[in-house]
Amino acid sequence: MGKRKSSKPPPKKAVPKLAKQFDCPFCDHTQTVECTLDKGQGVALCRTCNASFTTTIHELSDAVDVYSDWIDACEAANR
Ligand SMILES: [Zn+2]
Repeated sequence: MGKRKSSKPPPKKAVPKLAKQFDCPFCDHTQTVECTLDKGQGVALCRTCNASFTTTIHELSDAVDVYSDWIDACEAANR
């Protein structure tokens, strides 16, 4: 009858550092997408096929957020 269920620490997110380069969902090349963060706007651009994506970002957004927005948008388009 312990009070605590367990003292296990929450699992750490497996995010390797802060990636700035990502795999392109269009041409399938790896590490060719670069995300740039500007004021309120994030742009992901593939330097191989020039596919690009622009999204609104917040103060706390990071490159990976721009990229995952892009992936989400791609998946939504494929549905
Ligand atoms: Zn590409």
